[in-house]
Amino acid sequence: MTATATTSSTTSDLPVLDHWIAGALATGASERTAPVYDPALGVQTKHVRLASTADVDTAVATARAAFTGAQGWGSSSTAKRQQVMFAFRELVNARKGELAAILTSEHGKVLSDAAGEVARGLEVVEFACGMPHLTKGSYSENVSTDVDVYSLKQPLGVVGIISPFNFPAMVPMWFFPIAIATGNTVVLKPSEKDPSVANWMAALFQEAGLPDGVFNVVHGDKEAVDALLVHPDVASISFVGSTPIARYVYETGTAHGKRVQALGGAKNHMLVLPDADLDLVADAAVNAGFGSAGERCMAVSVVLAIDSIADEVVERVRSRMGGLVTGDGRGSADMGPLITAEHRDKVAGYLDVASTDGAEVVVDGRGVTPDGAAEGFWLGPSLVDKVPTTSTVYTDEIFGPVLSIVRVASYDEGLALINNSPYGNGTAIFTNDGGAARRFQREVEVGMVGINVPIPVPVAYHSFGGWKASLFGDAKAYGPQGVDFFTREKAITSRWPDPSHGGINLGFPQNV
Ligand code: NAD
Repeated sequence: MTATATTSSTTSDLPVLDHWIAGALATGASERTAPVYDPALGVQTKHVRLASTADVDTAVATARAAFTGAQGWGSSSTAKRQQVMFAFRELVNARKGELAAILTSEHGKVLSDAAGEVARGLEVVEFACGMPHLTKGSYSENVSTDVDVYSLKQPLGVVGIISPFNFPAMVPMWFFPIAIATGNTVVLKPSEKDPSVANWMAALFQEAGLPDGVFNVVHGDKEAVDALLVHPDVASISFVGSTPIARYVYETGTAHGKRVQALGGAKNHMLVLPDADLDLVADAAVNAGFGSAGERCMAVSVVLAIDSIADEVVERVRSRMGGLVTGDGRGSADMGPLITAEHRDKVAGYLDVASTDGAEVVVDGRGVTPDGAAEGFWLGPSLVDKVPTTSTVYTDEIFGPVLSIVRVASYDEGLALINNSPYGNGTAIFTNDGGAARRFQREVEVGMVGINVPIPVPVAYHSFGGWKASLFGDAKAYGPQGVDFFTREKAITSRWPDPSHGGINLGFPQNV
């Protein structure tokens, strides 16, 4: 993580992105900042503040005050919350082009992809618009004589959200619409690499009528994350990022009494059986391997091809890659740059590892001619065949545009590789055999499965999350599990006897 006080003469006149606390920009007390780049230009465009523990304390106290009391968001009516959520939906929808443009300028993904990200985030806002139905609880009349039992879902209080660089709009939108629609107040700590969209969304929520202090954004790095993880007034943490940090967040947050859902990294396999439609396979592998420059947790990074069709798969993927344009996402490119020069170099290094480990580099993206500034953080789409499963090209989450082909003798060998992976985020099978697909969906140990669908991200009314090292905690993101995560159920047993009469009985209550 880059976290330096940047005061060099070349960048000292750049703008500084502030926190958003209590409905206004806030400088906070910390003087630390980090650089924010335009990855397609390869230049720093601004600084972002890195909060101190005291800055986080201020944001949490603000969120706590906004939650509490008869006038607090935690006591606001269902109708009020719903009105605000509908208004927010309308505003984002009307200005989604603006949001996508900011996103592209800091992340680098092409504009159409950024628009797709916003659309998938909006799905969760729309889901949250139906919160009154999702939280209406249940009622059992006369479970015992004159006794009724009913259950309610109540908000937790202040909830923390910590998000990664690769979906700076969509991933926060997996959580905050549901958290806010259920009556919680939020402190969001976005990635310091592309932080601006978080402020933009918070300001738009204010325009939608959300009271100040309900949605706060604190920018920062490990210091801010640690402050949230141990703060006694933070009830829950929703984290998305790499597996080592997800594990740390889960362990630290739960040790401090918090409810934690920590979504981690991935290594997603696509198993191709000999009867599959190989044109569909090649299109899917290219789209899911190189979309967003491979910086998606649901990217396909390994194609498992049965030996008899492997040469054909490699050839069809390779020929499609020839038509891909890598360049500035504001133009007509198919694929943008990587997030930083450092990350680009790390990803490119795996192409050397591939050669050393005996794999065949079929397409080497290091030679790409970008449609954009020479200083951009470019790496073209790369294809590596015959990757040994002992190589770090296979075992590491590369998180870039490097697609591996691993040749397997059978369905069983492919399935075993997937199930032996420490990750379990997404996977896909490509086949025209319904029986094989059905067997796969039952046997594979992965949280999200595609059948002839390469990036099986569930719609907003199902829940998103992987298994094993791809998710720590019991609750997935959004959908019904998201509603449960952001609420506490309370069961009430009531008696209104007529005429009123109690009586002494020390036995355990029984229903009569
Ligand atoms: P990251 O783990 O580096 O950062 C995620 C968040 O953690 C950021 O807000 C960052 O500031 C913070 N952070 C970084 N280092 C920290 C530390 N030492 N202590 C505490 N907090 C720290 O992840 P990233 O590079 O921003 O995002 C890419 C990763 O996120 C990939 O591994 C990808 O698979 C994963 N991801 C997973 C999902 C999913 O749904 N499972 C979705 C998107 C991204």
